[in-house]
Amino acid sequence: MKNIVLFGKPGAGKGTQAALLKEKLQWVHISTGDVFRYNIKNQTELGQLAKSYIDDGALVPDEVTIKMLSDEVEKNPDANGFIFDGFPRTTAQAEALDYLMQDKSMKINATISLEAEDEILIQRLIQRGKDSGRSDDMDESKIRNRFDEYNQKTAPLIDYYQKQNKFVAINGIGSIDEIALKLEQIVAEL
Ligand code: AMP
Repeated sequence: MKNIVLFGKPGAGKGTQAALLKEKLQWVHISTGDVFRYNIKNQTELGQLAKSYIDDGALVPDEVTIKMLSDEVEKNPDANGFIFDGFPRTTAQAEALDYLMQDKSMKINATISLEAEDEILIQRLIQRGKDSGRSDDMDESKIRNRFDEYNQKTAPLIDYYQKQNKFVAINGIGSIDEIALKLEQIVAEL
């Protein structure tokens, strides 16, 4: 079993690439953003709790997100591997994930970062907002807030995973297929 984290700023292509990898490898893909959006759509208690943060482009509090992620892992006892997409986003989340993995005799094999410049990402997000109607993609100030959250709370994880020798950065600009191939190669070598 292998488990990877797909890492990168909003709009880097984590969701797109995770879906392709999932299809290729038959692993379980957990996107915390997707789980939140599902809960908002279905007006669950979790959705109501998360909505105001997501609408502001802020991170949902760690306790809520960590519990949700661990529930998602528990729901998939027979997984061949997990693709974590959009989690962890804080040091507390990364520590909780390590603890959860250890508890299940599993580990994170690599954290693969899709890299792209902010201005390109902002253009992509605005386009995605137009296509999907996602409210946090439609407002540039919310997008800027998500980048600020990333810089303050998520960027320190680069160092966290580098210290564990698990951090791999790849160029997130290019065709979807090209990037998918690169990811498959990295995963095959883990
Ligand atoms: P995403 O779909 O990954 O861009 O996530 C959309 C929004 O969901 C984020 O801007 C956060 O408000 C929330 N969210 C997703 N994942 C996390 C996480 N790991 N920690 C905190 N908030 C999250």
